Amino acid sequence: MAEKRVALVTGAGRGIGATIALTLAKENTDIAVVDYAPAESAAETLAAIEGAGVTVRYYSCDVSDFSATKAVVDQVVKDFGKIDILVNNAGVTADNLLMRMSEAEWDRVLSINLKGCFNMIKHVTPYMMRRRYGRIVSISSVVGLMGNAGQANYAASKAGIIGLTKSVAKEYGPRNITANAVAPGFIKTAMTDALTDEQKKAMYKLIPLGALGETEDIANAVKFLVSDDARYVTGVVLKVDGGMYI
Ligand code: NAD
Repeated sequence: MAEKRVALVTGAGRGIGATIALTLAKENTDIAVVDYAPAESAAETLAAIEGAGVTVRYYSCDVSDFSATKAVVDQVVKDFGKIDILVNNAGVTADNLLMRMSEAEWDRVLSINLKGCFNMIKHVTPYMMRRRYGRIVSISSVVGLMGNAGQANYAASKAGIIGLTKSVAKEYGPRNITANAVAPGFIKTAMTDALTDEQKKAMYKLIPLGALGETEDIANAVKFLVSDDARYVTGVVLKVDGGMYI
C-alpha cells in the first residue's frame, strides 16, 4: 500500500470542503481540517472522516489571518509530521451590484478567498519544498472565468486564484510541487440553497447537463489532481460545471 499522505483542507467543516476531506480520507490520507466555524458544527464531518479509518484533527483558524495561518500550518506539521496536499477551499460571498458594494464587502471576500490562498500556500510550501513533494489545489469558480453581475468581488477573487495558481505552478514545479485549480459551476450546498427557485430555474437553462452538480463532483476532480495519475498536470483550471461555461 502506498505511504499514507497528509492533507490540509481549508473550509472543510461543511459543504464542498467536507466532501473533499472525506473523499481524500477514503484514499488513505490523514486530514487536517482548517475552518473558522466552531468545531462542534463540524462534528458530523469529523466523525465521517474518522470512520474512513484515518486520523483527523480540527484547527480553528481564519484563513485571511497571515500569522494565524502560519501558526496552524506549523502545528499541523508538528501533529502529522508533514503536509503532502493543500486544498484551498474556504470561501465566502458578499454579493452586491458594484454601485452598491461597500469597501467592507470587497475587502472581506478578497481577503478570505484570495489572500487566504496566498497565506496557506506561503506557509505550506517551505515544508513541501524540503520534501520535494507537494500537491496544491485551490477552489476557484466558473464565475472567475466568466464574470457575474452582482459578484464583482467574488469573481475577482476567483479569477485571482487562477493567476496565483499558474504562478505557483511555474515557481514550484522544479520542486515537484504541482498547483492546480478547480472551477466549480453551481453545486448543491448551503451557498446555492440560498438561491430562490426562480434563480435556480434560470440557472438550469445555462447548464447543458441540465442539473446542479454534487459536492462529490468537485471532490472527485480534487482526488484526481492530487493523485499519481495527475503527476504531470500543473497550472490547469479544471472546470466542473456541467458545461455551463464553454
Ligand atoms: P460553504 O459556505 O458551504 O462552506 C465554506 C466553508 O468555509 C465553511 O465551513 C466555512 O466555515 C469556511 N470558511 C469560510 N470562511 C472562512 C475563513 N475565513 N477561514 C476559515 N474557514 C472559512 O461553501 P461551499 O459551497 O462548500 O464552497 C466551498 C468553496 O467552493 C468556496 O471557495 C466557494 O467559493 C467554492 N464554490 C462553490 C460553488 C457552489 O456552487 N457551492 C461554486 C463555485 C465555487
